[in-house]
Amino acid sequence: MAKKTRLQSPPGMHDILPEDQSYFQKVYRTAESLVSFYGFEKIDTPIMEFLELYEKGTGLTTDIVEKQMFSLKTKGGDILALRPEFTPGVMRAFLQHGMTNLPQPVKLYSIGPVFRYESPQAGRFRQFHQVNLEVFGEKSPAIDSQVIQAFYNLLAELKLKNLVVEINSIGASCCRPYFKKILISYLRSRFNSLCLDCKRRARENPLRVLDCKEEKCQPIKAQAPQIIDHLCEECHNHFKEVLEFLDELGLPYRLNPYLVRGLDYYTKTVFEIFVENPAPEGSLPVALVGGGRYDNLGKVIGGRDISACGGAAGIERIIEEMKNSGLRISGEVKKNVFLAQVGNLAKKKSLKLFEEFRQAKIPLAESLSKDSLKVQLARADRLQVRYALILGQKEALEKTIILRDMKDGTQETVKLEKAVREVKKRLKK
Ligand code: AMP
Repeated sequence: MAKKTRLQSPPGMHDILPEDQSYFQKVYRTAESLVSFYGFEKIDTPIMEFLELYEKGTGLTTDIVEKQMFSLKTKGGDILALRPEFTPGVMRAFLQHGMTNLPQPVKLYSIGPVFRYESPQAGRFRQFHQVNLEVFGEKSPAIDSQVIQAFYNLLAELKLKNLVVEINSIGASCCRPYFKKILISYLRSRFNSLCLDCKRRARENPLRVLDCKEEKCQPIKAQAPQIIDHLCEECHNHFKEVLEFLDELGLPYRLNPYLVRGLDYYTKTVFEIFVENPAPEGSLPVALVGGGRYDNLGKVIGGRDISACGGAAGIERIIEEMKNSGLRISGEVKKNVFLAQVGNLAKKKSLKLFEEFRQAKIPLAESLSKDSLKVQLARADRLQVRYALILGQKEALEKTIILRDMKDGTQETVKLEKAVREVKKRLKK
């Protein structure tokens, strides 16, 4: 016997049902209008790229590439991966299309799904959506602050409160190798007390030990050397200026020396934005936005240095916060008129009338599949429309229609061809 198909979406991947579409649309629309104000233009890149792009760009020792890729071999033998993040793909497109020849900086934004093979849990999915910003070709710290400002204002425009930016600098090739040495030597001295993951990280990607969330590693983190104290002059000044810009903008931020972000390509500034509500017991506050500067990524994937800074906001997490803070968004357009019909001829005529209302841009509710007038009027009542139009057999023959005021119950008969005009006139009052 044929096996029944499991009627379930894959773990960590969700349908976006009609009742949630209005939240997604709200985030998309707010993001698009806000970031165009900051000069970002939209770019769509494929959902898949060569796996190699992420291995090189995101980094082989990152969690994303090590554990979270959805990859496949095509019939032609190419190894592709569903994008786990936007940045390497957008940088690839920037280089591929010669955008280095455009006036710099080039500011690009994207919105769409990303895929990570994670353990599904609250706020952590395998398919989720991001608003992603990238600024290429500008090394000024003003850009770092503008990216942070754009994301902060996106959340603020969506009416999220208690926002806080966490920020750190992780230096660059000028000072990080030296800091790594100091850190490795410190971690060696505590090696036995590290969690299993951090024992591996200490060898492969020691900075990641600093953002380990395991209880066991917290005392080790607390005494670890901090990169901020070991920045070279250039990285130090860059960071100082970013903070000065944030001060000037009045954005609330907090220095977090343990913020290193998971990815290999970051240089200098790294940041995350949180909503600072008391987290439910036992849970860690989740970041809504993460990003930073990555001046080496261009070289790693394309052979040349490109100053770059960007970040990504997680749309599902933003919507969750909007709902938690009691923000309700209804996608339904309020309809003030209901069209009821009785009999075959009336049903036919009401289809045409419905079109006339659509062309006049007057939202019209109907129950074409229902025959009983009582049922239809009850629905009109529930929808709290102001007027009901009733087209019965007699009216259909006489080319008239009844216009009923649902507030006081009065009704009058008007010519069918004037129905739109009559309703429009009354709605204007
Ligand atoms: P990242 O690309 O890891 O810096 O993530 C940027 C933002 O995407 C985070 O701040 C979250 O809002 C969101 N995000 C990251 N991973 C997930 C996930 N597995 N599920 C849902 N949202 C996520």
